[in-house]
Amino acid sequence: MPQHFADLFMENLTDDLKRQLTSVDDSRGRKNTLRSPSFKMSADEIKGGMIVPYREVFGELDHTEPGKAQFEFSFQYQGTNYFVEDLYCMNPECDCATAHLNFFQYEPEKAKAHQIFICNFSFEGKLEIETVIPPLTEQEAAKLFESWKQEEPDLLELVKERYQQIKDAGRQLLKESKKKKPSAKVKRTIAGKKKKKKRKK
Ligand SMILES: [Zn+2]
Repeated sequence: MPQHFADLFMENLTDDLKRQLTSVDDSRGRKNTLRSPSFKMSADEIKGGMIVPYREVFGELDHTEPGKAQFEFSFQYQGTNYFVEDLYCMNPECDCATAHLNFFQYEPEKAKAHQIFICNFSFEGKLEIETVIPPLTEQEAAKLFESWKQEEPDLLELVKERYQQIKDAGRQLLKESKKKKPSAKVKRTIAGKKKKKKRKK
């Protein structure tokens, strides 16, 4: 698991959170398997096992409609709303068989959610809690996970399916990146488009 995962994720998500958390109804859009046209990732990043949020790849992160990008999973536990985001490694060659999950707690008075823990859910059904943000404890985190799992009885099947979709997208992106590379045999000048590294703050 790449070291930078947590950092990267935090960095990516803050912006999303700001944008979406005023609207939290449960429209899950799970059937959406078309890759978002705005999703880009380099071959190196894919091969390096970069972990990406499912909805960033398949969701409509169309900034023209703030509030549209929503967490796909939500549940209630003891009167509090929680959200879950699932992330996967994109490298089609990598057999990590794990869903990376980020849990958020909704604060109605602030109309926003904050991250409370990160865990890995292996396809053998094992939970590994990676980071817990105090005051939450590891025990509470495990409880929250169980509570969510109960509301998603097909959770394992669901994350396996989404994992596969992400791997397929990774495969596709790698194929596309190969096509873009100029062949060594063809002596043609191709204006190299420098891809701008854009990281959301
Ligand atoms: Zn992997």
